[in-house]
Amino acid sequence: MRAVLVTGSSRGLGRAMALEFGSRGYRVAVHYARSETAAQEVAEIIRGAGGEASVFGADVSQPDDCQQLIKDVTGAFGELDVLVNNAGITRDTLALRMKAPDWQSVLDTNLSSAFYLSKTALRGMLRREFGRIINISSVVGLMGNAGQANYAAAKAGLVGLTKALAREYAGKGVTVNAVAPGFVESDLTTGLPEDVKATYLAQIPMGRFGEASEIAKVVAFLASEDASYVTGQTLIVDGGLLMP
Ligand code: NAP
Repeated sequence: MRAVLVTGSSRGLGRAMALEFGSRGYRVAVHYARSETAAQEVAEIIRGAGGEASVFGADVSQPDDCQQLIKDVTGAFGELDVLVNNAGITRDTLALRMKAPDWQSVLDTNLSSAFYLSKTALRGMLRREFGRIINISSVVGLMGNAGQANYAAAKAGLVGLTKALAREYAGKGVTVNAVAPGFVESDLTTGLPEDVKATYLAQIPMGRFGEASEIAKVVAFLASEDASYVTGQTLIVDGGLLMP
């Protein structure tokens, strides 16, 4: 069975992705930075349903941790077929007030991690001439958002990284795509002020926020054989918020 690593799958969207892959019979590497107990619970749910899951901890803002994480997962599963670069943070404030650490930590965690993880995972994928890399971007990377210069830059960077890697490895059995979710309820978004949420909601043609499982199913599609001819794309999953 295919093996998948979903970074940041202790909570939120990543958790839903890990559970979705588990339900589809993948061997799932559940990954966390701080929420080890939550990650263990995700793995327990997958195992409880008859699936296979192992838990790995790593701080993906550190290049060495990224390299080690891929080595650990490959060591445990023997191979890594699908890499979902999902782990992400926000450090929101207007650009004029944004301090260097707020800029750097978001770029390191949300963008550079995807480069280092992909670079390490690609070796095995190219050897076996099969691989799927899926980067979790955001509509914010495509349309911008006041107060999120760091986050928007990182998420836009993921779209460029996706296209560059897709072109480099399209002929080697490896597809690289991005998913750009709109507004989905999670720990990342629950803290937003109610008036900000109401403003977003008013702009969403479907009139509701997304559910983590709705993002997870699109990610699972891109990982599947059904998406064998799809590469370099950014799939927007946002209830119609952005129609480029
Ligand atoms: P979340 O609930 O805050 O979860 C974030 C996950 O990332 C957690 O599992 C966390 O692990 C992990 N993480 C954070 N920093 C890390 C680090 N340095 N090293 C390793 N793991 C780290 O966020 P979410 O809403 O599910 O978002 C998941 C992804 O979707 C992010 O890339 C986000 O930008 C993107 N996205 C979300 C939305 C939305 O509306 N929610 C919309 C568009 C895009 P620990 O808990 O173990 O620290």
